[in-house]
Amino acid sequence: MPSRHTTETARRRTFAIISHPDAGKTTVTEKLLLYGGAIQMAGTVKGRKSDRHATSDWMELEKQRGISVTSSVMQFPYKDCIVNLLDTPGHQDFSEDTYRTLTAVDSALMVIDVAKGVEERTIKLMEVCRLRDTPIMTFINKLDREGRDPIDLMDEVENVLKIPCAPITWPIGMGKRFKGVYHLKRDAVHLFSPTHGGKRNAGEVIQGLDNPRLDEVLGGQADELREELELVMGASNEFDLEAYLEGRLTPVFFGSAINNFGLQELLDDFVEYAPPPRSRATESREVMPEEEKFSGFVFKIQANMDPQHRDRIAFMRICSGSFKKGSKLHHVRIGKDVRIADALTFLASDREHAEEAFPGDIIGIHNHGTIRIGDTFTEGEKLAFTGIPNFAPELFRRAQLRDPLKMKQLQKGLQQLCEEGATQLFKPLNNNDLILGAVGVLQFDVVAHRLKNEYNVDAGFENVNVQTARWVSSGDERKLEQFRDKASNNLAIDHGGDLVYIAPTRVNLQMAQEKWPEIEFSATREHG
Ligand code: GDP
Repeated sequence: MPSRHTTETARRRTFAIISHPDAGKTTVTEKLLLYGGAIQMAGTVKGRKSDRHATSDWMELEKQRGISVTSSVMQFPYKDCIVNLLDTPGHQDFSEDTYRTLTAVDSALMVIDVAKGVEERTIKLMEVCRLRDTPIMTFINKLDREGRDPIDLMDEVENVLKIPCAPITWPIGMGKRFKGVYHLKRDAVHLFSPTHGGKRNAGEVIQGLDNPRLDEVLGGQADELREELELVMGASNEFDLEAYLEGRLTPVFFGSAINNFGLQELLDDFVEYAPPPRSRATESREVMPEEEKFSGFVFKIQANMDPQHRDRIAFMRICSGSFKKGSKLHHVRIGKDVRIADALTFLASDREHAEEAFPGDIIGIHNHGTIRIGDTFTEGEKLAFTGIPNFAPELFRRAQLRDPLKMKQLQKGLQQLCEEGATQLFKPLNNNDLILGAVGVLQFDVVAHRLKNEYNVDAGFENVNVQTARWVSSGDERKLEQFRDKASNNLAIDHGGDLVYIAPTRVNLQMAQEKWPEIEFSATREHG
């Protein structure tokens, strides 16, 4: 008999949705939760989001801007599995958070708008998935509208995203002529019947492509379908489980999320084929999910999810062992044991107190300023999970305090907000500036807003003569010391205590790199 730990691990499916804004991620999420029985009525996902927005000041800002910086975790049961869906923020300004969320999943679902095809953000996210060979399923959405020819779309995915496609379902017409999908492996036609709101789609299923019932309901479209499928099956790849699991092939499904159509077929195959928790690399060894001892890493820190508690939650992905309420965990970076009395799990849309969680699950732990993104927790072993990147910011501004007596609060606020990982703080070696770096310009507004609301500090951000930043290190301690001395006007310490070269121009950076070949200039910093 396999142990409970083994069976619980094997039934976890942890994934995220990658898509360009507007392709239908929110709608797909909502419908998947509906199939998981997590919510009664679809529509709750957006409703829940806006409830939260209304209760928190800085989320109010997001609402005004029509964007979401709030990433959350949803857990729901489906068949024998426990599915963890990690939501990724949609706006491109917040891509760093998205990237890091993708380090915490075992697979991804790519949603593509049938009319728009492969869009810019999907391309970027796909690049991130490729770094870890993340298996990807594809859902082509909005078939109830006129769109591009499905064969062209698959060509585009193959050419632009460089991943072969294996159609699992095939659409029968589209737009006004959309009649359903044919499941290639099960040889069954699922007829489309528009279903809105919280009802599951219960359209007729016709077994067999040769079934005369098909001609009865589809008329001329039945023969069209047969001809098209002959072409498709001859020209496209067959589904190959191993290739999918290695990230070398993507199974493709078609449907219309808003009509609850095509997603159940997807979910059925998802729980069957998508990988359970995979092993993870650390600096010293590979950690297997079956290991009995606990390990996990923090991939996200978020503030004020609950307006009643002005605290921050660290999101931890469990990699091995299991977590029980009240367990003691070893916080590797600071070398301390901490008792986690009040961890949160994310069943459906509510946060609940975690009784027990397994590899693949995400738990939320309260952070009082000691936890950083990338931190590893174990039962004592000194492990450090790798591959959780921090990207060099592209925009820099100097914090400008309006009330000089609030300097302490400003420093504390910036330090804490930067621990969440969306922005980075740089303190130059040679002056008292506080320079904030971000990947997107909206971040400065968010930080100013939160400083005011959460720390009671009135601050603005002004231009500063910094164009780019690189983390610096060297195997040669003496050279590094020399460099620190000679280049100190361009050096700063970041909020994690690491040394950073802040360059006024790219040319300046290039010259520094040429002058100091023994120094490594890195555009990403791994946490830890
Ligand atoms: P997100 O930005 O990727 O989260 O996309 P949303 O789920 O918010 O969807 C964007 C828009 O597309 C919304 O207006 C949805 O109602 C609409 N939409 C989503 N799925 C479908 C679909 O299957 N058919 C049609 N016609 N519209 C859809």
